[in-house]
Amino acid sequence: MGHNSRCAEATRPGCRCTGCGGAQHGWQGTFTIAAEPTGRRAREFADDREKDWQNKPKSLTVAQAAVGCALADIVGWLHREKALLEGAQEVTRPFDRRKDDPERGRLLREIENRLGPDRTKMFQGWAVDVHFWCELLAQAAHALESLRRVYRHGLQAVDVLLARARETAERLVLQVVDEHLGQPPGLGRQEVQTVIRLATGSLFETLPLAVRGALGADAIFEFIWPVRVLAVVMCKDPSKHEAVCQYCLDPICVFTRAKVRTEVRDRLLENLKREWLPLTAELSQQ
Ligand SMILES: [Zn+2]
Ligand SMILES: [Zn+2]
Ligand SMILES: [Zn+2]
Repeated sequence: MGHNSRCAEATRPGCRCTGCGGAQHGWQGTFTIAAEPTGRRAREFADDREKDWQNKPKSLTVAQAAVGCALADIVGWLHREKALLEGAQEVTRPFDRRKDDPERGRLLREIENRLGPDRTKMFQGWAVDVHFWCELLAQAAHALESLRRVYRHGLQAVDVLLARARETAERLVLQVVDEHLGQPPGLGRQEVQTVIRLATGSLFETLPLAVRGALGADAIFEFIWPVRVLAVVMCKDPSKHEAVCQYCLDPICVFTRAKVRTEVRDRLLENLKREWLPLTAELSQQ
């Protein structure tokens, strides 16, 4: 099935879009809701997710309804912090094919050039199935976070940091593919590695756009948040995706600026795997 507005504007779990492989899932709609200046649409979105929780439709699991409530808080956060929304939109650049801007969607075009249309389609069918694109974002956030811990010990140049983040993310994603996701039908490991390399390259290229100028290396780590937010919004079902929970949803839940409500954290802890939300679990015990 080709990518369409039902995928781009999805607000409930599930995606079978082989057109985008899940890379354009959900965020267009979510960011439009968050960007509405009065906050009316963000509040409506939150009300709908609360209704899903209070009076759960059969099509949702309790865990999915709980994640919906967290998404409502994330939409609220995107609405309050314009810089976060802009940052998250910046991170979508490699995946976005809507605009005529030649930079937008370059990654997807490069993949098509390398794999050809048929194998790209097979790759994207596999990608949506195994959560490939949200996994990639989650691992990128994880790579940046590990780097941030090391970075405290000394100053480093921006491009050195970015090159290391990229290498780390690439290695992590390849490891997940080898150990958990398996190969897409009709494609070899080498080709998967090529896609991963192109993708991490594009993703980390979007970072300097935001930090270019006099901001310095610390600004790179500010970028962890838009990457995390995009991973949670893009993921067709975070309740079933360990890396998105652990590296993105969990830190967001305990981040003061995100203002995720206590009751939402409790709903998540009661209905998702607790070990996927270690920081949230720790906070609830204090
Ligand atoms: Zn799609
Ligand atoms: Zn979709
Ligand atoms: Zn996912």
